[in-house]
Amino acid sequence: MTGVSHTDPVGTKFGKRIMEYLNAACAKWRAETNIDFSLYGTPMESTTYRFAKKLQDRFGIIPHVTDKSYITNSYHVHVTEPIDAFDKLTFEAQFQKLSPGGAISYVEVPNMQNNLQAVMALIQHIYDNIMYAELNTKSDYCQECGYSGEIEIVEDESHKLIWKCPNCGNTDQSKMNVARRTCGYIGTQFWNQGRTQEIKERVTHL
Ligand SMILES: [Zn+2]
Repeated sequence: MTGVSHTDPVGTKFGKRIMEYLNAACAKWRAETNIDFSLYGTPMESTTYRFAKKLQDRFGIIPHVTDKSYITNSYHVHVTEPIDAFDKLTFEAQFQKLSPGGAISYVEVPNMQNNLQAVMALIQHIYDNIMYAELNTKSDYCQECGYSGEIEIVEDESHKLIWKCPNCGNTDQSKMNVARRTCGYIGTQFWNQGRTQEIKERVTHL
């Protein structure tokens, strides 16, 4: 709508106006109906792929708008946008205030077992700045070779996204354990292609 990310001051202002408009609509409906309407930052699991496909059907492929197989949840900073964990949470906090029905923010982190000080600093930052936030880490396991760490997403010959053990090359999903936060919870059931692309494109924030 503005040509810039909502982390740009112009985009931030516009994003907040949208949120305020939606909150005003909820207030109006509450007054009219005596039903407690509220704005909710939905992380709805399958919607990210379905809405992306429907938008492509209707508007075609518009670069940086409808060119992915997923859309971004609520006010979240785009998964491919470089931003550090602390800035991301401080930024998203102002939008959580406008999501009184519920909201969640995440930061993507690598294996943090050897840097617990950073984990503690981040948790303190969450406590001081934002209502609800979580750290996404990777703790996958390959049943073929015993590798423990991050199982990778790669394209096969038909450009389908598949999961592959970086240690032994295993691509059999029934012989690996992969856990990723996909919305409000951690999923281990494997995902549709849109969600898998979104997971593949996530940058780490710490
Ligand atoms: Zn393996």
